[in-house]
Amino acid sequence: ASALTVPVPLGERAYDILVGRGLIGTVGSRIAALGARAAAIVTDEHVGPLYAQAFSDALQTHGLRTSVITLAPGEATKSYASLERVCDAVLEAKIERGDLVIALGGGVIGDLAGFAAAVVRRGVRFVQVPTTLLAQVDSSVGGKTGINSRHGKNLVGAFHQPSLVLADTALLDTLPLREMRAGYAEVVKYGLIDDARFFAWCERNWRGIFEGGMERDEAVAQSCRAKAAVVVRDEHETGDRALLNLGHTFGHALEKITAYDSARLVHGEGVAIGLNLAFRFSAALGLCPISDAERIEAHLTSVGLPTRLSHVPGGCGTVDELLDAMAQDKKVKGGSLTFILAKGIGQSFIAPGIEAGKVRTFLMSEI
Ligand code: NAD
Ligand code: ZN
Repeated sequence: ASALTVPVPLGERAYDILVGRGLIGTVGSRIAALGARAAAIVTDEHVGPLYAQAFSDALQTHGLRTSVITLAPGEATKSYASLERVCDAVLEAKIERGDLVIALGGGVIGDLAGFAAAVVRRGVRFVQVPTTLLAQVDSSVGGKTGINSRHGKNLVGAFHQPSLVLADTALLDTLPLREMRAGYAEVVKYGLIDDARFFAWCERNWRGIFEGGMERDEAVAQSCRAKAAVVVRDEHETGDRALLNLGHTFGHALEKITAYDSARLVHGEGVAIGLNLAFRFSAALGLCPISDAERIEAHLTSVGLPTRLSHVPGGCGTVDELLDAMAQDKKVKGGSLTFILAKGIGQSFIAPGIEAGKVRTFLMSEI
């Protein structure tokens, strides 16, 4: 399998993202070249039975001692209890500082295993093998790791950069369509942030991405380039990494209102609605042509993603509930909120100081 390589130039912690079909069977040598003697593979009960054995075998062929830790699938696995399980299993497997923790799974496994790698023995090296589209284009890149607390999502964690990311696009062949669509919302997001040409490319090529053609590899690689560029400029999210939150202020509010119940709404679906709302809000504020918002909505609709508050199963709550949910989303100061708005497709910007009243008026017109 030939791979596309996306470098992430973070100085001493620089690493590569490899994107290609069938990578996990062929990159044993690449992983062995990291110089580890052992690897603890962390996975979940959906992914493990499909891919862990073949992957583990490929590593053993190159002289690595492997072990597999399998956890329950789902967001609830990003917990203190699972962290303890993973850390203990990693120690049990005698993983030393030079060895590897490998996350083989979606964002849940990536965040959890990455955090375990950050803290066990005060940090061991870590490889991401993302198996969802969301994880391949977003969560496996950037070094944010963590678990959830009773106080909220992702509140306990660390920045811990991987040593390598292997995005094997063939793994997505078994991903449920709904998860595929959800991850695709994040792909579209990169075009909308600052790359109008990529958005137009997505409009023409989305079928190939879903069907697993070369377009899938290209879309994953381009998304990783876009995220890596932002991460390299702003590794610890003090500045323009916030652009990656386009669509997420509304999206997070909807996730909160639907109680993070994936039967109702998964993250990427909230993002799809949020992207459309961010452009409609920008248009309502006179910043952006409404025709751009309409073009985005048409595209998201054609791939089968929700775009409107009315598309939230079980309802999106009242305007007040939505505002409350947004106010809890850390980006609030006084009576105003920080949004990512846009002057057009590919022209987003950070807009601090948006008055809550303006958001209210907009939401009233949308509900
Ligand atoms: P997920 O890990 O829960 O995976 C979704 C579902 O797909 C699960 O049921 C999983 O078992 C299944 N699955 C995974 N790969 C599969 C495959 N190849 N074939 C069949 N089934 C498969 O969800 P996700 O959307 O990948 O990740 C969401 C998580 O990512 C959230 O916890 C979120 O906070 C986190 N996240 C982190 C970052 C970051 O920067 N660290 C960024 C975005 C999201
Ligand atoms: Zn997201």
